[in-house]
Amino acid sequence: MGERPYVIDEMLSAKTIAARVEALAAEITRHFSDTDKLVVVGLLRGSFVFIADLVRELRLPVEVDFIETSSYGNATESSREVRILKDLRGKIEGRDVLVVEDIVDTGHTLAHVLHLLNARKPRRLECCALLDKPSRREVDVAATWVGFEIPDNFVVGYGIDFAQRNRNLPYIGAVRFAE
Ligand code: 5GP
Ligand code: MG
Ligand code: MG
Repeated sequence: MGERPYVIDEMLSAKTIAARVEALAAEITRHFSDTDKLVVVGLLRGSFVFIADLVRELRLPVEVDFIETSSYGNATESSREVRILKDLRGKIEGRDVLVVEDIVDTGHTLAHVLHLLNARKPRRLECCALLDKPSRREVDVAATWVGFEIPDNFVVGYGIDFAQRNRNLPYIGAVRFAE
């Protein structure tokens, strides 16, 4: 599938993303203004660019940790079975936690991660997702903050890959296969 020729149509420019990240960070800063230290949890690998930009706009004391879920190969369809490949390094009991996700699609990944983290009794647990595809939802789960709602396109860039490529694009684009 990675061999099939495709083009990438820009959907969200680097400038558009930066402005939205700044606005999200302002809302998140306000929400957690009373925290002594926010634990920002990035879902690897797709959120690594987003989390890097987001934490630099937060005006809060933060700790950064990561969790990695399974993705099952290079298919453009997400798996309904979610496995944890790499767990958090730190404890979150009694802490304020913000999960940072690249895309909420069917919702299985976010629902699984929130369930797992909730069982560890954080004080507060919220999620910020850069992208949301509400038309694809199979599980009733929502991020507290969403950067952009997008239609059912397969997207790449700004940390998000197609067959492990295109993560380094500064913008977000939709993959379109040549006929
Ligand atoms: P869900 O469990 O909500 O179906 O899927 C979540 C994960 O599937 C996202 O975090 C992301 O890694 C992957 N995913 C969903 N839509 C896309 C997409 O358009 N492009 C890429 N590259 N990955 C996606
Ligand atoms: Mg993801
Ligand atoms: Mg992926």
